[in-house]
Amino acid sequence: MKAQVLKKYDDGLAADAWVELEEVPDPKISRSSDVIVRIGGAGVCRTDLHIIEGIWRPHMDPTGDELLPMIMGHENAGWVEAVGKEVEGIKVGDPVIVHPKISGGTCLACRRGFDMHAPGSFPGLDCNGGYAEYLCTSERNVVALPRTLAPKDVAPYADAGLTAYRAAKKATRHLLPGERCVVIGAGGLGHIGVQCLKAMCAADIIVVDTSDDSLALAGKIGADHLVKADGNEVEAVMSLTEGEGAEAVIDFVGEKGTTTKGLAMTRPMGSYYVVGYGEDIKVPTVDMVITEKNIIGNLVGTWAELVELMALADRGLVELTTAEYRLADANKALKDLHNGKIHGRAVLIP
Ligand code: ZN
Repeated sequence: MKAQVLKKYDDGLAADAWVELEEVPDPKISRSSDVIVRIGGAGVCRTDLHIIEGIWRPHMDPTGDELLPMIMGHENAGWVEAVGKEVEGIKVGDPVIVHPKISGGTCLACRRGFDMHAPGSFPGLDCNGGYAEYLCTSERNVVALPRTLAPKDVAPYADAGLTAYRAAKKATRHLLPGERCVVIGAGGLGHIGVQCLKAMCAADIIVVDTSDDSLALAGKIGADHLVKADGNEVEAVMSLTEGEGAEAVIDFVGEKGTTTKGLAMTRPMGSYYVVGYGEDIKVPTVDMVITEKNIIGNLVGTWAELVELMALADRGLVELTTAEYRLADANKALKDLHNGKIHGRAVLIP
């Protein structure tokens, strides 16, 4: 099959091309629970840029040179191509979206539903992913798609959408009608997060972004207030929240100073959700004590949450803005993402 392969890290993201289109062996069924998916679409994610620049190296490749070459792509959807002999819940030809973690199902984390914290593998991060024609996963990790949803249109929900959904769902569990939720960054994840918030609670949604296009999109999909990130965004949020800050702040950026600003926009006893990442959070411990603010991490979501998100998508309550690229144009998609030229989410189509 054809696949886009990452062969070396590029910590400055300066190279002309990061992945190479190659002919590689098709994945094969090796366990009775395996499922081979014919890829219909693979989302291109900022995490892919972070993998290229080596941010994940200490976690996924601690010795520094054992992981590569690797096929990237952790946001995958397609059709079942082949199944292992014990697979009963799905059949060849079914459209599916692939939960990003391959987990065993028998450890305590899996039994509690938190597969993302279970031992296992993360295709596209620590083994071959979906920038390819086929992907090997397991029955436990695929979700059958409603017939209304085409794989190429939903692939980014597998990680970007699921992560945005999980963070938004956590916030909706405490946000009361009339309270405020700030969304920092209405790009690929943020524009999904805004729709999830709108579908699941009656809080006022304040969207902060540097891009006029992203703010315009946020306005169309349900944001109540739009704040341009022009250096005065903290003051702007404070004036929209009687000087107190918002009950919830979901930071889909997590770099370029948004963590300090996001925490400043969070009111005492409020919650600051970290979704985007890249920089360190620096906060005096005494401030944490005095304000009782919560800082909450978010790692994709559960299999059940992927089913919940597909239910929102099936009902048209969440729609994904996508830009389609051919698999052969993976470098262009990655460059466009790096250069801020994609509004919504890029998807590679084999
Ligand atoms: Zn992703």
